[in-house]
Amino acid sequence: MSNATDSLYAAWKKIYPRYQLGFFRHLRSVLYTVELVIFFFLPFLRWERPGGLPNQAVLFDLPARKFYIFDLMIWPQDIFLLAFLLIAAALGLFFITALGGRVFCGYMCIQTVWTDLLLHVELFFEGNRKQRIKLDQAPWSGKKWLTKIGKHAVWLLLCAATGVAFVSYFMDAPTFWQQLLAGTLPTPALFTIAFLTVTTYLMAGFAREQVCIYMCPYARFQGAMFDEDTMIVAYHPEIGEPRESNRRIRTAQREQGEKVGECIDCEACVTVCPTGIDIRNGQQYECITCAACIDACDSVRERLNASRRTLICYTSLREMRGGKTRWLRARVYYYSLLLAIFLGGIAYYLNHHASVELTVIAQRQPMYILQSDGGIQNNFTVRVLNMTSSRQTYSLSVSGIADATLTVAAVSETNAQGHPVLTVDPGSVTPFTAYLRQPGQRVEPGSVPIHFTLTAQSVDGGTATYHSSFARP
Ligand code: SF4
Ligand code: SF4
Repeated sequence: MSNATDSLYAAWKKIYPRYQLGFFRHLRSVLYTVELVIFFFLPFLRWERPGGLPNQAVLFDLPARKFYIFDLMIWPQDIFLLAFLLIAAALGLFFITALGGRVFCGYMCIQTVWTDLLLHVELFFEGNRKQRIKLDQAPWSGKKWLTKIGKHAVWLLLCAATGVAFVSYFMDAPTFWQQLLAGTLPTPALFTIAFLTVTTYLMAGFAREQVCIYMCPYARFQGAMFDEDTMIVAYHPEIGEPRESNRRIRTAQREQGEKVGECIDCEACVTVCPTGIDIRNGQQYECITCAACIDACDSVRERLNASRRTLICYTSLREMRGGKTRWLRARVYYYSLLLAIFLGGIAYYLNHHASVELTVIAQRQPMYILQSDGGIQNNFTVRVLNMTSSRQTYSLSVSGIADATLTVAAVSETNAQGHPVLTVDPGSVTPFTAYLRQPGQRVEPGSVPIHFTLTAQSVDGGTATYHSSFARP
């Protein structure tokens, strides 16, 4: 047995993917560009919110524990929503995988997008595949140093920009930039930028396909979502085999009536593959279904003026066996049903979740205050959390106690029923001190349960209640 067979580790071989234009390359370029533009520029999108709320369209304000996503405000008590969103995203991924295989990996995954971005820089500095291989094999010279330094400098710049863009989702972007330029950024922000710069540089610049093959858990469990109707990129051996690269031999074989495959063994499909596999060896878990090999083979066959039948294409195992792909099937129904349930639940919650929260804490030092007329007064700390994006006014009333009068410190405004009117800014909690008095002639012994009700004067403000008790001797 050879040493290579004895070893449990495959030696790492640098992959030099060839850049290939074609329909799927254009499609990927459009999607990658949209993703990059959204990622880098979304923090600069302004979104008007009244009442002094931040005007950044997407802001994850960790110190204030509030997330702003356009008109949506997520509070700490809504944090389970993020778990629901993650579950919905996972179900969405399962759904896409059941239908289209690993299209997410090939067209949307950040690892693929950033690797492709850095590969473009490599192409710019080091040239095409052959030139890159030649450069790496050449001894170190002044030109080689300059080329490599130029490439790595731009890589680092792009990776640092990635870190900067990421952090600006967590701070007001213009303020963040001012602090960045003035060198006054807080340490956690600097650490995050440095961390993302290094990880992006390593993962997208060096590890590349190793991330997809060895590190990504999705690559490992996606097989469980596959069935014979899932879209895969596959080579048609019945058309391509037996392959022969020599044109003369092919012609001679044809003349002798031998079967000659359509594959000319040019390896164009292998040299474009970002994960370095040969799709002609059958379906492999390393394949991220980017379709670069389809573009490569199609362009070869176009040059050969070959018949329209493609050797490599998106297909399914069922189709390869001569059947017809079934798009609508049980697992697609299950995933879409579960996805609809989760997305529906999130939409329902967002439409119906409370717009205001009321907390009433009875001040029990002292338990109650005896008035000169024999009446009893209890003091309460009332906290009102306005979860809408506009300033709200609320009337505060109390029930469960006869003839009691409710007043609030520093609040003189009352509504038509004489209830105090409280004003609270958007997205903030305001504490008030409330006094509840019951006249002497109505005082009975023992404490009594009472109910505070907060009612917004506008339709979107909502209502809230809080149960407490009124202490008496
Ligand atoms: S085999 Fe083809 S589709 Fe799969 S990763 Fe390689 S180039 Fe992309
Ligand atoms: S690109 Fe097409 S013709 Fe060339 S080796 Fe691959 S499958 Fe064969």
